[in-house]
Amino acid sequence: SKVPSITLNNGAAMPQLGFGVWQVPDDEAARVVGTALDAGYRSIDTAAVYGNETGTGRAIAESGLPREDLFVTTKVWNDSQGYDTTLRAFDDSLGRLGLDQVDLYLIHWPLPSKDSYVDTYRALERILAEGRARAIGVSNFLPEHLERLLAETSVVPAVNQIELHPQLQQSAVRAFHAEHGIATEAWSPLGQGKGLLEVPTVVAVAQKHERTPAQVVLRWHLQLGNVVIPKSVTPSRIRENLDVFGFELDADDLAALTALDEGKRLGPDPATFDVV
Ligand code: NAD
Repeated sequence: SKVPSITLNNGAAMPQLGFGVWQVPDDEAARVVGTALDAGYRSIDTAAVYGNETGTGRAIAESGLPREDLFVTTKVWNDSQGYDTTLRAFDDSLGRLGLDQVDLYLIHWPLPSKDSYVDTYRALERILAEGRARAIGVSNFLPEHLERLLAETSVVPAVNQIELHPQLQQSAVRAFHAEHGIATEAWSPLGQGKGLLEVPTVVAVAQKHERTPAQVVLRWHLQLGNVVIPKSVTPSRIRENLDVFGFELDADDLAALTALDEGKRLGPDPATFDVV
């Protein structure tokens, strides 16, 4: 495929651009993920809580693609945190996906009020040791949560998947990742398609390159070194979001987009989010 890979800290390769399936209903997931795989995506980001691992697994099976060509990520939901409960949740996810291994297994949220992410991570370490995940990591972890994992567990997370887009650039978290060899994966990379894609600076850079605002924003992420997982259920947009390897932003474009940071979170704050 034309999508470049990054090398994770355990040597595994991860496509730098994948397909996110949050809010895709299970009965549409087979079609939508099938469209993405036909278009050339090889990395899929799902989660137990998205309720669409079954449809995602069906699309993978029906694609006929060799398993080693695919990179499948799923996540343990908050209500399953804890050592034994995570092991069971992982078995359930594998069953729904119809796979015997995932490429990346993540803790979905740190849930600091529950104080169980260290035990949860130990279950991920066991899953990794058993070869049932090729890499393990976290999502929505703040540097203070990563610090605890680094101090109390043995495997450095391969990835931290965080909300990141030009209006929420997460410089401190990205710097922490760089220092510790953790890959930065951006969720809601397009700012959920709300507002960001109409910002005049984004529109102007898009016009300059004869590309769309979504393509320009994805290019900004890729040139920063982020992994991105844009979501769409619209076939033309699914293809558009993958067609970002034939042009490059210059230093002026990057600086203009980097000036859009306003610390604007669309999702919950990981320090206080405690929904199970
Ligand atoms: P996104 O930034 O990918 O935006 C998706 C929305 O943008 C679409 O629903 C559509 O309305 C619009 N869009 C997509 N392509 C477009 C295009 N080419 N032109 C115009 N509009 C377009 O938002 P997202 O779905 O929130 O995030 C992507 C993925 O990240 C999710 O599907 C999920 O896999 C992951 N995610 C993870 C977490 C987490 O807590 N780990 C949270 C949210 C999302």
